[in-house]
Amino acid sequence: MTKLAIMGAMEEEITPLLANFTDINKIDYANNTYYECKLGDLNVVIAYSKIGKVFSTLTASTMIQKFGCDTLLFSGVAGGVNPTLKIGDLIVANQLSQHDLDITAFGHPHGFVPGGSVYVNTNERLKNIALEVAEENNIKIIEGIIATGDQFVADEARKSFIETTFNADALEMEGASVAVVCDALNVPCLILRAISDTADMDAGFSFEEFLVTSAQNSANFLMKVIDKIK
Ligand code: SAH
Repeated sequence: MTKLAIMGAMEEEITPLLANFTDINKIDYANNTYYECKLGDLNVVIAYSKIGKVFSTLTASTMIQKFGCDTLLFSGVAGGVNPTLKIGDLIVANQLSQHDLDITAFGHPHGFVPGGSVYVNTNERLKNIALEVAEENNIKIIEGIIATGDQFVADEARKSFIETTFNADALEMEGASVAVVCDALNVPCLILRAISDTADMDAGFSFEEFLVTSAQNSANFLMKVIDKIK
């Protein structure tokens, strides 16, 4: 690893991370701000993309193709689908899917377009490091499937569709797009999320209540992962 990319979607997701880095140099590019910084000898670029698949694709791609990052770590919050996931709990993705990608009218499965695949994998090594870090520190984490779409899910019917169609454990709005970019450009990636809500009727309230603490949980854990891989 020569240069590490660290991404969130919202400012609240990267603020607790930025505090850990030094020599911060702000660069404005493509309607966004990128923070070049250091952790000891390690060169790092940090940014929040803004919400959704399009902005997160742009940011992940920029971090790799313009800034030359060769490993990408994402930290943020998600709606829990797997009932074992409580507010604040961590999930690391082993596979991700786009739950709103739908050309089923042509006989294709949900999440599939020709040339693509329903699921994209993340990097096995990084995921296993995250699991090891959790075990060593006695922190609860699950590995599982994350479904991504351009929609804040606050609805039992939509949540249940995503659970049954994709076997999803959590859902959010950026993970799969970031993982697709990393897969295509051959950059190992880790998608880490802490639960802010359970994607049901109360999800909006829960999200607002727990965004900051859950984002902090995810950031704290990611820093432990970085300590191990740097
Ligand atoms: N309150 C924000 C919007 C948040 S959208 C505003 O008004 O600007 C939700 C963000 O958190 C997304 O980045 C998404 O990745 C994640 N997320 C958390 N819970 C989610 C849910 N139930 N459905 C979809 N995304 C969720």
